Amino acid sequence: MNKKIPEATAKRLPLYYRYLNNLLYANKLRVSSAELAESIQVDAATIRRDFAYFGPMGRRGYGYDVRKLITFFEKILDQDTLTSVALIGVGNLGHALLNFNFHKNSNVRISAAFDINPELIGSVQSNVPVYAMANLQEQLKDQRIEIAIITVPAAIAQAVTDKLVDAGIKGIMNFTTVRLSAPDDVRIQNIDLTNELQTLIYAVNHE
Ligand code: ATP
Repeated sequence: MNKKIPEATAKRLPLYYRYLNNLLYANKLRVSSAELAESIQVDAATIRRDFAYFGPMGRRGYGYDVRKLITFFEKILDQDTLTSVALIGVGNLGHALLNFNFHKNSNVRISAAFDINPELIGSVQSNVPVYAMANLQEQLKDQRIEIAIITVPAAIAQAVTDKLVDAGIKGIMNFTTVRLSAPDDVRIQNIDLTNELQTLIYAVNHE
């Protein structure tokens, strides 16, 4: 599978994957693009186009084989390999994420946390060890961690990012309000919870 998948398609894969697993769980072994469209709110033509990138996946009038699709998506999504993630900043939000730790998806987990607070360093929070920032480089390397979540105060978010980049991180999930700068080959995913909530409130109030 070397064909490059468009980004929009790649973004929908986890959605497809999760829904197909629900179907399998309910013993439903076949699904049509129309049924999928109805359930996940993506139009059927888009689904057919997405699936077509992966080769012949369905037959006309038969629908898609749920198990076949799941096996296929697992490979693409690397569900069979465990991805370790680091978390920087064990404050309120950091604690919540450590506690949450992506349990619904057993292939991703936060395996190391970092902070400057001496009371936290050396402790274990929600089964995750907290290390000093001085150990960042060493731990990321030892644990082969390429993804980091940032939940530090905004004022030091860029400095932390620079350290992560130096340590070879490839992707950053940014929960601070700061627009981070990093080299082009480092992906940054911004998640501003306040902004998301405001957007929702605005939409509700202006409907
Ligand atoms: P939030 O609710 O946003 O998680 P908070 O109010 O609990 O935040 P903050 O002051 O935002 O706490 O700090 C979050 C965490 O980041 C704290 O545990 C703090 O010790 C840690 N922190 C502060 N500066 C640094 C730094 N330079 N490097 C790593 N961690 C830091």
